[in-house]
Amino acid sequence: MAQVETTAGPVDVDQLGLTLIHEHLRTRSESVVAQFPHVYDEDFEWSRATEWVSQAMERGVKTICDPTVMELGRDVRFMKRVADETGVQLVVATGIYTYHYLPPHFQNRELDYMVDLFVRDIEVGIQNTDVKAAFIKCCTDEQGVTPDVEKVLRGAAQTSKRTGRPIMTHSHPASGQGLRQMEIFEDEGVDPAKVLIGHTGDTDSIDYIEELLGHGPFIGMDRYGLDIILPTEQRNATVVELCKRGYADRMFLSQDACCTLDWYPEDLRAQMVPKWNMTYVLDEIVPALKEAGVTDEQVTQMMEENPRRWLG
Ligand SMILES: [Zn+2]
Repeated sequence: MAQVETTAGPVDVDQLGLTLIHEHLRTRSESVVAQFPHVYDEDFEWSRATEWVSQAMERGVKTICDPTVMELGRDVRFMKRVADETGVQLVVATGIYTYHYLPPHFQNRELDYMVDLFVRDIEVGIQNTDVKAAFIKCCTDEQGVTPDVEKVLRGAAQTSKRTGRPIMTHSHPASGQGLRQMEIFEDEGVDPAKVLIGHTGDTDSIDYIEELLGHGPFIGMDRYGLDIILPTEQRNATVVELCKRGYADRMFLSQDACCTLDWYPEDLRAQMVPKWNMTYVLDEIVPALKEAGVTDEQVTQMMEENPRRWLG
């Protein structure tokens, strides 16, 4: 049976269980952390992360995929500590989170160099630990495929081809970025069944989503709670319609919730996105989707079977 790496070592894919495909235990601007560490409250970060993960587990969550990578403050020791404390199966990633530029370190080196580092995270371990990455993360946002972003996308693609590991993206559907990403992955010869185009649920354009699905990837309906980008009602209506059209085997439900996030002052975030947490999908979204006609089997597909297929 296929196995998936977690922070506690490999598990059989059939042990993944109920899975949140895209959540963050902690998101920090890593250059700020390095230079002004005093502005961070590590105790608060720790208690919030263990609290939110525990709340998700009380609702049956067994596995969380955390795509926190370079430029989001990835700290695999912190991730492993939270996973060990709570008992969640935590699946972590390699990759680079950038919307436009890379540091000169990568700009001035060949693509192979980046791929070698990603492969090392997968085969040897992350940040001098033996915790291995199980998937690869990359992004495009409204800035589009800049030269540096293209380098990361091609690096992710080549890493997937070398290791067989799946790719998760951050995309910006309003500017059609999922399709731009698929163009590059197709050009690199990546198996589309190994691709998850994240944040596709930020649009309710069924035309765009069906065109994207036509290229064969999974899609993330993975930002529940971020109503400032698209309100829950529209997110739900889109998922319901796609389930009706037979796409439950291609979707994931998640929140992209960051237990802590230094991009905004904490009080502002509570005001802007009050329901953005790790239990919103299970507490409110799944019941609402079922009310609207999504079946139990379809929910199981989106939250248990699809994670197995994508990761396995
Ligand atoms: Zn995210």
